[in-house]
Amino acid sequence: MSDNQKRLHEVNEKLNAIVSYVELETSGSGLIENWDVALKDNINMKGTLTTASCELLSNHLSIYNATVVDKLLATGANICAKTSMDELGMGGTNLSAITGPVKNPYDLDRISGGSSGGSAALVGAHAVRAALGTDTGDSIRKPAAYCGAVGVKPTYGRISRYGVIPYASSLDHVGYFTQNVEDAAVMLEVLAGRDDLDMTSSFEPVENYAALLDLDLKGKRIGVFKDVQDVIGNESMRQQFASLCEQLEAQGAILVDKHMNVELLRAMLPVYSVISNSEAVANHANLDGVRYGKSQPGDDLESIMKATRSQGFSSMIKRRFVYGAYALDDDNQEDVFNQAKRVRRMIVDAYATMIEDVDIMLACASGVIAPKLNENTHNERSDEYLIAENHMVINNFTGYPSMTIPFGYVDDMPIGLNISAKPFKEATMFAYAKAIETQINWKGEF
Ligand code: GLN
Repeated sequence: MSDNQKRLHEVNEKLNAIVSYVELETSGSGLIENWDVALKDNINMKGTLTTASCELLSNHLSIYNATVVDKLLATGANICAKTSMDELGMGGTNLSAITGPVKNPYDLDRISGGSSGGSAALVGAHAVRAALGTDTGDSIRKPAAYCGAVGVKPTYGRISRYGVIPYASSLDHVGYFTQNVEDAAVMLEVLAGRDDLDMTSSFEPVENYAALLDLDLKGKRIGVFKDVQDVIGNESMRQQFASLCEQLEAQGAILVDKHMNVELLRAMLPVYSVISNSEAVANHANLDGVRYGKSQPGDDLESIMKATRSQGFSSMIKRRFVYGAYALDDDNQEDVFNQAKRVRRMIVDAYATMIEDVDIMLACASGVIAPKLNENTHNERSDEYLIAENHMVINNFTGYPSMTIPFGYVDDMPIGLNISAKPFKEATMFAYAKAIETQINWKGEF
């Protein structure tokens, strides 16, 4: 075992972030030569287990590489582990993984967040240089905030999704975690680009992001997502955000308060639930023990499928599938699924207007620090929950690039700043992120 692998095993004894280890001779060379990189366990890599932390896929060996895996290998990455996630990516705590909860590197009594929790925890613990994740609602950006990592969800279509187990196709993005903004810029150069195997992949040229990080804030317009900030209950969180804004103003930036219709903001989570669960139940119709996964015995095809799906999914997944099937049912489709899509469009239009005259939008990624493993913190009908805890889903609706960087501490736990930009303006997003990172000089000590 290499020294790196030994260290990874040690860290993992505390964090429970890894589903399986990967040991491969690296042959590629390039931008990320010898970087230890971990993959969320919904990303296929030939010959490795790819379980999506789901019982039904617990014996699933990948027979091909996702495009992102080919890109990592070609540029010299040392892919070292597959990481734990919420079952099928459906969740925000990483408590639903079949291998058990992932612990937060800053406090082992707290969650990593999810669904890309294992990847976030390993990067937050500085046990790997980078890790891949997926983000359908906020599943990279929220755990990044909880674990003190940089988490990037680029524009929809920017990174190929070929070979990645889907959740909700109109919302799913592949992205990643790094320890700093410069590495995040390098990673996008490695991962982005047109892929003929993914029909949603973009032809937009890939930029030299790491060379475009210099930015003079003088005269630059930055939007502050006031509706989010105003409903955050934690005083210190709000204050640290406000003082960051003052520092940016002191450097010549123009900060503009931004608002959206509150009814639309309160509709974000219900709209997301309808669309994500509907798309999920359709996407996962193939998990039946016949084509894939751990099959249960039965007398005929139907009883095999029934037994496999009954035993292969947790009750949380089944509830979500019932919800999605209800929304797609002939009798309900117009009033539920189609209505959700119409409201999604209204939210997208309102956000596009809001960001029009600024380069980026800023807000706290979450109004709270990582909750305790058994803590149920939220009143789910409050604006604090509906808006402050769920606003990042807007950029899954829009497909615009969005990232989180650590920007301070509350109770010795890291807190995250969410930075979002216009479509395919990742270079702009990274340049602002770098300027802010330099300004706050966050060390990542735990
Ligand atoms: N927490 C959200 C959900 O449960 C987001 C998950 C994600 O982005 N994969 O669906």
